Amino acid sequence: MRVKNCVRAALLFTPMLYFAGTANAQKPSPNDLVVITNVSVVDVRTGAVLADQTVILERNHIASVGPSKTAKYPRNAPSVNGHGYFLIPGLWDMHVHLVFGDWFPGAQDITLPLLIANGVTGVRDMGSELGSVQDLRNEIEAGRMLGPRIFTSGPMLDGPKPRFPSSMAITTAEDGRHAVNELKQRGADFIKLQSLIPREAVFAIAEEAKKQEMAFAGHVPDSVRASEMSEAGMKSFEHLAGIFEGSSPNEDDFLNGGKTEGRFLASYDTARAAELAALLAKNQTWQCPTLVWERGGNLIDVTDFSKDGRAKYVPASWKNKSWKRFTDEIVKGYGTDDIAVRKKFIEKELEVVQMLHKAGAPFLAGTDTPPGVYVFPGFSLHEELQQFVAAGFTPLEALQTATLNPARFLGMEEQLGTVEKGKQADLVLLNANPLQDISNTQKIAAVIVNGHYYSGKDLEKMLAGVEAAARRVN
Ligand SMILES: [Zn+2]
Repeated sequence: MRVKNCVRAALLFTPMLYFAGTANAQKPSPNDLVVITNVSVVDVRTGAVLADQTVILERNHIASVGPSKTAKYPRNAPSVNGHGYFLIPGLWDMHVHLVFGDWFPGAQDITLPLLIANGVTGVRDMGSELGSVQDLRNEIEAGRMLGPRIFTSGPMLDGPKPRFPSSMAITTAEDGRHAVNELKQRGADFIKLQSLIPREAVFAIAEEAKKQEMAFAGHVPDSVRASEMSEAGMKSFEHLAGIFEGSSPNEDDFLNGGKTEGRFLASYDTARAAELAALLAKNQTWQCPTLVWERGGNLIDVTDFSKDGRAKYVPASWKNKSWKRFTDEIVKGYGTDDIAVRKKFIEKELEVVQMLHKAGAPFLAGTDTPPGVYVFPGFSLHEELQQFVAAGFTPLEALQTATLNPARFLGMEEQLGTVEKGKQADLVLLNANPLQDISNTQKIAAVIVNGHYYSGKDLEKMLAGVEAAARRVN
């Protein structure tokens, strides 16, 4: 879809002039507008599809949404005929790592444009070099760089010997409190917990984070029960961490180790699982299950990635160094779980996700890109939505995990998450109805990020630019 008039499209690789724009009292100049006429607007709250709407974007926000018949706007404003297209809110990937030490070079030239080209206009960064991500965010907000909205934890808190880069080593309760304070001062948006933090330090972190009014989220640490973390106010659990442990009568043994997927499956107790689900629902403990990555990680030794057409978008070092390193570690970690057990476990995870969902636990879409092996920035978020549907979510419910739910999670429902007047102009125009088939979120005709319209042609150029950068970056 091209904007008639092409005023906005011409801005593609020039500084974005309008970021700071807020609603202004005077009549907007036509050049501050993008008008999408006759489009079907998907209401992600209710699942209603409102046909024949005209959506007027003014600078970086949605100025109005209403029937095309009665829409008023200057006829010389840039416009797009949206007939036959479906407009949804910009998508969020709620689990990414933009600058994971130096393991995935190319945040600016690879990761960020891949996200935008796939309609991902917001991300929650779950562990990165804080200063580097803040620099990216500043450049994006100033309109000098293309990229999504970013919330970031900065470095992850892990045990005395962290497993990954961009981590802080935590041994004592005092270390934990100190880390929370330091990250708050440095401007981190929340605290990310990893698996190896000692028990006493976990609770100190939780207490200090509450005192400092910072959310904490991440892995349920190995030394703590899922129920305890939910009660302590942990905001989201990633990768279903702690759920299978808590659904087993062997939960206390698992606190000391010995966890395997085979043991999880063998000791899964429906009544315990239901009890935990009820607690997560009561506390509204968000679940970001990273299902694509769960599947990918569990089947890594039997998956042939060599034919993946998306591999051309990522640098050789991602494939040959970082993803290879993860693959080797993961395969070693399978231990006694053979392929049949692992396949069963992935199926069980989908079943558990649906059970938690039915019980009222809220869900977020996240991918763990790019540390997840062959989990691609942007592309894989669409696969994640398909996994939710495979688990039993309706297409609407799946779509909510990447739109309305992130807005609620971030306390930004007033600004984001739906196609409504007054909201930030982060939008995706689709060729087909995603509520009929969730895979239609991949049929992207245009992406609007912070009011800037990128046509299908612009997005193709963006991807070609990434492909060229992937050959350059190392
Ligand atoms: Zn992660």
